[in-house]
Amino acid sequence: MMTRPDVLAAIGGTPLIRLRRASDETGCTILGKAEFMNPGQSVKDRAALFMVDAAERAGAVRPGGTIVEGTAGNTGIGLAMVGAARGYRTVIVIPQTQSAEKKLALRLAGAELVEVPAVPFANPNNYVKVARRLAERLGATEPCGAFFADQFDNPANRQAHAATTGPEIWEATGGKVDGFICAAGTGGTLAGTAEALRARNPGVMIGLADPDGSALHAYYATGTLRAEGSSLTEGIGQGRVTGNLEGFRPDVSYAVSDREALPLVFGLLAEEGLCLGGSSGINVAGAIRLARRLGPGHTIVTILCDGGARYASKLFDVGFLRERGLPVPPWLEAPRAIDP
Ligand code: PMP
Repeated sequence: MMTRPDVLAAIGGTPLIRLRRASDETGCTILGKAEFMNPGQSVKDRAALFMVDAAERAGAVRPGGTIVEGTAGNTGIGLAMVGAARGYRTVIVIPQTQSAEKKLALRLAGAELVEVPAVPFANPNNYVKVARRLAERLGATEPCGAFFADQFDNPANRQAHAATTGPEIWEATGGKVDGFICAAGTGGTLAGTAEALRARNPGVMIGLADPDGSALHAYYATGTLRAEGSSLTEGIGQGRVTGNLEGFRPDVSYAVSDREALPLVFGLLAEEGLCLGGSSGINVAGAIRLARRLGPGHTIVTILCDGGARYASKLFDVGFLRERGLPVPPWLEAPRAIDP
């Protein structure tokens, strides 16, 4: 046990948890890095801290200044936490389609929200582009300036994982790691963790688990950015090669559907006590596929990005799931009635 000088010093150092069923069914050791245990409750705390640290070093953010970002939620929660702890205002531009729980968590983290319609990246009113313009405007009008965090193309995002997530995985497994796989939103977690693991052992097999609706799986498989279908998972999937993915290539990539990932999310909750968000389900599905490819006896690590409470009104709502023809676990559909 140790004391920390502030909440930001509690970011990282998350445990690797053996996922029992996934491990037993594949004969591998499948480990999930419990990123929901970060103080902002997601993997994005690491990137938020590194981006603000880098901006401070570069003089891009000054005391009393404003952090601006376009985010699906978790990066904003991390940035608002870092902002509050360091004395910055945080303004977050978010697509309206994100879950109500995430919007509330953003407000509770201290963020000021700007909600915009969800439109593709090519549209000038895409949330990332709105955020960039807003940062320029506030930079000119606010007395202490504004800083656009730019998580998709800011290399400090990827560096956070190259400097912390990857080395932590290496140390916790004593270097006994054969595969690492996760989904990509910005790509910072995947490319940064892969960079650190490959530097220590070039033979570690790196995988991308790509949700339906993302163009990356087709890109790595065929060279063309092409998306098909859609996914209810938030924070992952990508239509372009972001700055954080530049120069990176996975050894293997899998397209994973909600239909494959959701039963894993429900099973981890009901059988292993892990309440996780949808991207963790995509990641665990990818880890199982990688385990089958490598064969029994291997150790595969993936990321448990955030907790399920952030998605109660979607992932864990019977009506929402049924409307989309998605699997509903019996304990959610008809909880056992107990006579008091
Ligand atoms: N899962 C969730 C829930 C997220 O919010 C994010 C970040 N958008 C990711 C996974 C993907 O992380 P990265 O941006 O590092 O690719």
